[in-house]
Amino acid sequence: MSPLRVAVLSLGGTIFMSQDPAGSGAAPGTDGHAAVTGIVVDGVAVDHHEVANIGSPSIRPAHLREALDLARAAVDAGATGVVLSHGTDTLEESAFLLERYWDRPQPLVLTGAMRAANAPGADGPANLRDAVRAAVAPAARALGVLVVMDAQAHGADRVSKLSSRSIGAFGSEPSGPLAVVAERDLHLLHRPLGRAALIGGDLPRELPAVPVLALGIGDDAALLDAVPAGALAGLVLVGSGMGHVPASAMDRVRALVAAGTAVVVATRTPRGGTSDRHYSYPGSEVDLLAAGATMAGLLPAHKARLLLQALLADGAGPARIRAAFADFAV
Ligand code: ASP
Repeated sequence: MSPLRVAVLSLGGTIFMSQDPAGSGAAPGTDGHAAVTGIVVDGVAVDHHEVANIGSPSIRPAHLREALDLARAAVDAGATGVVLSHGTDTLEESAFLLERYWDRPQPLVLTGAMRAANAPGADGPANLRDAVRAAVAPAARALGVLVVMDAQAHGADRVSKLSSRSIGAFGSEPSGPLAVVAERDLHLLHRPLGRAALIGGDLPRELPAVPVLALGIGDDAALLDAVPAGALAGLVLVGSGMGHVPASAMDRVRALVAAGTAVVVATRTPRGGTSDRHYSYPGSEVDLLAAGATMAGLLPAHKARLLLQALLADGAGPARIRAAFADFAV
């Protein structure tokens, strides 16, 4: 029987960083290559291709486009699955964006590390091994894009980095991880939901600008007065609770929608998501919906931003934007 093959693509991050012994901090280096060449999973051949070696806050859609094209080419040429190693800071964003375009049944698994490649207790080798296990796991087929960290597998739409320091940095709120990575397969912990808001086709090399504006008490969103009418294709507001903004911001929300801006409202509250019917006072979800805004549901603002950008790049109008976000509604 021909061996299983996994393509490992890398974009950098701590998993490829070296910690300076004099204490001046971790930066991209070559130590991480040993972690890739050292991957041993029974019966699996691994090919590595470096796409970039940068900190993940600097990842751009063009990097993800290249990784997506390489991942599609690898599975079309017979790979069982693909692993993409990535810095952990923005890993959930890349996973979320790739999930919109990944159109193959083979697993596309993102992983990273919290400790530099030469640091004591470096977690990169174990995470890479687990990601390769997930990439060949029969139970992972047709689940779309997964994130594997600390022996757990998460769905791309739910996962978030919850700690900037711990090895167990990632979690899926409010469901918990999708699976435990076991030796021979993924052990699913709950039945996966169907995949949401798929776009397919080419991942755009550039995405339209969609700012994110967080509104706290006493904030009337006056900053928006500086935006010329019609200049913004989209805006994400971060509200509180079930997706609420100060009543005093509502005239500006109405003016933006009237000028053709797609306004999406997320919540800063990490569990529970936005509602579309619970409250009807000025600035609440019922008022925002009446003003023409769309509620982000379970998506945090940074994922809502990416979904809106990807939809706008695909030419989506208000009805399609509302339908895509409805996939994440509670
Ligand atoms: N702290 C980051 C990491 O874990 C750095 C990055 O995201 O590139 O990889």
